[in-house]
Amino acid sequence: MLTDTFKTTKSEEIFAAAQKLMPGGVSSPVRAFKSVGGQPIVFDRVKGAYIWDVDDNQYIDYVGTWGPAICGHSHPDVITALREALDKGTSFGAPCQLENVLAEMVIAAVPSIEMVRFVNSGTEACMAVLRLMRAFTNREKIIKFEGCYHGHADMFLVKAGSGVATLGLPDSPGVPKAATASTLTAPYNDLQAVQKLFEEHPDQIAGVILEPVVGNAGFIPPEAGFLAGLREITREQGALLIFDEVMTGFRIAYGGAQAKYGITPDLTTLGKVIGGGLPVGAYGGRQEIMSMIAPAGPVYQAGTLSGNPLAMTAGIKTLELLRRPGSYEQLDQITGKLINGLLAVAKATGHEVCGGHLSGMFGMFFALGPVHNYEDAKQADAAKFAKFHRGMLEQGVYLAPSQFEAGFTSLAHTDADIEKTLAAAKVVLESL
Ligand SMILES: *Cc1c(COP(=O)(O)O)cnc(C)c1O
Repeated sequence: MLTDTFKTTKSEEIFAAAQKLMPGGVSSPVRAFKSVGGQPIVFDRVKGAYIWDVDDNQYIDYVGTWGPAICGHSHPDVITALREALDKGTSFGAPCQLENVLAEMVIAAVPSIEMVRFVNSGTEACMAVLRLMRAFTNREKIIKFEGCYHGHADMFLVKAGSGVATLGLPDSPGVPKAATASTLTAPYNDLQAVQKLFEEHPDQIAGVILEPVVGNAGFIPPEAGFLAGLREITREQGALLIFDEVMTGFRIAYGGAQAKYGITPDLTTLGKVIGGGLPVGAYGGRQEIMSMIAPAGPVYQAGTLSGNPLAMTAGIKTLELLRRPGSYEQLDQITGKLINGLLAVAKATGHEVCGGHLSGMFGMFFALGPVHNYEDAKQADAAKFAKFHRGMLEQGVYLAPSQFEAGFTSLAHTDADIEKTLAAAKVVLESL
């Protein structure tokens, strides 16, 4: 191990100061390394597939700012476009043509989207879509899946545990019972459970929202027939199907999971990649539904900075790079090499592992597998993951600091990066 040369003195100093200034020292919880132990690394700069921390350690990055850095961090085309946009100002609070450009790109790419509304985060997109689905169906209840994350709005913070899940009890203090009383939950990949909820609550369920490929409980792909089954059930029941593609949109395919699996939901939420590293979220769907949004219709939703020219610019440039032929084949090839290599090294060093990938999204559990849902994911060896995470960090590889997070590659990751990562994994896994 490189432990002798691995110094994080400045990171520690800055994080100690941050803890006095901000709750937990961070602006978003998972960054705090709570589930893997140790102190978070404080970044100084990012470029391509790499990050450098304030102590000047360099890492190969598999977080990619949680997905947006799909073309590689600070892609020169994105930076140049942002510099030009910056000269025209940072925010208009009025229509700008760049919104049309990104909207056209999103509509052309994502099968379910005929009209789109831009917001500033994935959380906002999911909140808005919830209001819209309730307004459109004139029903209140929704179904979400255990372990799926749809941002931090009250209605989605329902614990993914059996008893509490059934009661619809909130997952966080401060969330009123009333806010989650209409949130029903089912295990992922379990069509029967969904069918049962519809039978128990006839004509009351507005829709089903899910991550079409789960990334927020670790990487869990849908089983054959699951998405199609949900499409069928929701249609039969007069409910809407919502794909939360904040993570998977423009990530596992240019048109997202819905293009990859050929299942078209009624509404879709987007975020992460479409902002190219700036704060953007979006939701969209059929014109008939989207026309209910103010000012076209009565469903209120607004945003001071929504459609911001810098954010639109980063999104447009990122999608332009992604839609070049071969992008997703390249992501698939490099990510396949990574995950298959990791699984092989882990098995060769005597560890039980399972995992997989879809284009530039991947995951590995320290478990025999297969992992079908959150319950399965929770059986994975979190203590071993924590040690693996720490070891990889010391070897210059930055992984998401939780086993319940998917990993991401970018167009900037090279075969050499993957080989270095696998060599590091061998050293770490042999030591566990
Ligand atoms: C990240 C994420 C969100 C929340 O997006 P923010 O921009 O962090 O608010 C919602 N849904 C899914 C599937 C996500 O991965």
